[in-house]
Amino acid sequence: MANTTGPFPSSQSTTPFWRTQLDPIDEHRTTASLPGTCHVLIIGAGLSGASTAYHLVKDAKSSPASVVVLDARQVCSGATGRNGGHVKLAWPMITSLAKEHGVEKAAEVAQFHISQIYAMKEAIEKEKIDCDFALRRSYDVYLSKTEPEYANVLLDHQLMADVAVSKHVEFMDTKYAEQLTRTKDPKAALSVPACSLWPYKLGANLLSIAIKKGVNLQTNTCVTSVPATRSALGYYTVETSRGVIKARKVLFASNGYTAGILPEYRDKIVPWRGINSRIVVGECQIPPNLSNTYNLHNSPGTDDYINPRPDGSIIVGGAKTAYWHDKEQYYNNADDSTLIESAKQYFDGYMQRYFHDYTDTGAYTDMVWTGIMGRTPDSLPHIGAIPGRPDQFIMAGFNGAGMLHIFLSGRGMAKMLLDDIPFEETGIPSIFKTTQKRLNDTRKVKGYF
Ligand SMILES: Cc1cc2nc3c(=O)[nH]c(=O)nc-3n(C[C@H](O)[C@H](O)[C@H](O)COP(=O)(O)OP(=O)(O)OC[C@H]3O[C@@H](n4cnc5c(N)ncnc54)[C@H](O)[C@@H]3O)c2cc1C
Repeated sequence: MANTTGPFPSSQSTTPFWRTQLDPIDEHRTTASLPGTCHVLIIGAGLSGASTAYHLVKDAKSSPASVVVLDARQVCSGATGRNGGHVKLAWPMITSLAKEHGVEKAAEVAQFHISQIYAMKEAIEKEKIDCDFALRRSYDVYLSKTEPEYANVLLDHQLMADVAVSKHVEFMDTKYAEQLTRTKDPKAALSVPACSLWPYKLGANLLSIAIKKGVNLQTNTCVTSVPATRSALGYYTVETSRGVIKARKVLFASNGYTAGILPEYRDKIVPWRGINSRIVVGECQIPPNLSNTYNLHNSPGTDDYINPRPDGSIIVGGAKTAYWHDKEQYYNNADDSTLIESAKQYFDGYMQRYFHDYTDTGAYTDMVWTGIMGRTPDSLPHIGAIPGRPDQFIMAGFNGAGMLHIFLSGRGMAKMLLDDIPFEETGIPSIFKTTQKRLNDTRKVKGYF
């Protein structure tokens, strides 16, 4: 749909690898018609909506508060079904946060990243969720020929050197980086804790558990407006493509599309299109086994991410250098029904170009798709009570690293929604809080140029 009235999720979309094995709840509607009222209305059935719904009801012994989840399309058909499938301590992000917000705030976020990995592992094991979860380490590999870049990485790291969480980070200089990372001609690398998983299966399973505990899911139901004021009885009348639903509390888990229904967040959460691929190895051989996931940095801000999967295929995304000159292709672009023309060939021969063990494998691009992120000017998500809208909450704007932040943010959001716990007691990093000050910030989301 056009951006003058949106952004809204497009009616068609490219097919990502993660949506090639659909869950029975993919187009689920718990009841044939939309419920008339509910206590909590969650807009968006991606990982944010799924984690919040799961945490709202997971420990409920008796009938939980009535919770309805709406999605304009199918379950996890937004960024959650289209991403790289790996979750890692994002050290370059942490060091840049340290420069802007101080070491203490950056360390809080870094600790949240580590906790996220283990909290997801624990829940996946407890709930027996089959989503190819694997604990791993991830390499950030610096390939740039320009020495200053790596020197800067080391310099940035010094900022965090005395903080306990930095013990999780290991540096490699040129001497061993090539042998250890298996990449061609790296200048240096660092490794961090990580995990990889099948994001669609995680989200769909969390929602499935929530449905069994009483949550009402309504897919293919687009929210078209949410008023800022409520009735005398305390209900917001929310309009959807299938009629109205009245809700006492509303959560916007609508990520890149949030501005379409929450105008205060226009320019604060901007839809941003990314491109991703699946590479497979030609038949007649056992694929090489890379046990780590990767970010390959060719020059500042243009890294690709690589997630070698247990089935021998590799998810490779990024490709920014192929399209960053063409702002319309990604900036304020919410259309995941088409590919980014200038980038769709980028992945051909990728593994052969960068990894020793793939030189003679005949690896080729099997699938390419696009997905919509929600970018914010300060690169931080917006989570918490929405200023000026009592009992309306937001959990959106996760930029390119939502899985790193969402699972435990969903737990915190459930506490806010259920028990009126203040944001500060939820365990979510303080700089993620949505505030009037952040909404007043006049900075724009920067393009690659
Ligand atoms: C190409 C790509 C690669 C990525 N790689 C990684 C990665 O490797 N690791 C990582 O941690 N993160 C990655 N991310 C980011 C991550 O995928 C997202 O941050 C995360 O999935 C966001 O989850 P969400 O539930 O908030 O949003 P989404 O998954 O986008 O879900 C939002 C949902 O809201 C629904 N919705 C929106 N508006 C409405 C409306 N008006 N009415 C009803 N429903 C509505 C949408 O249909 C959608 O299903 C990547 C993202 C992309 C696009």
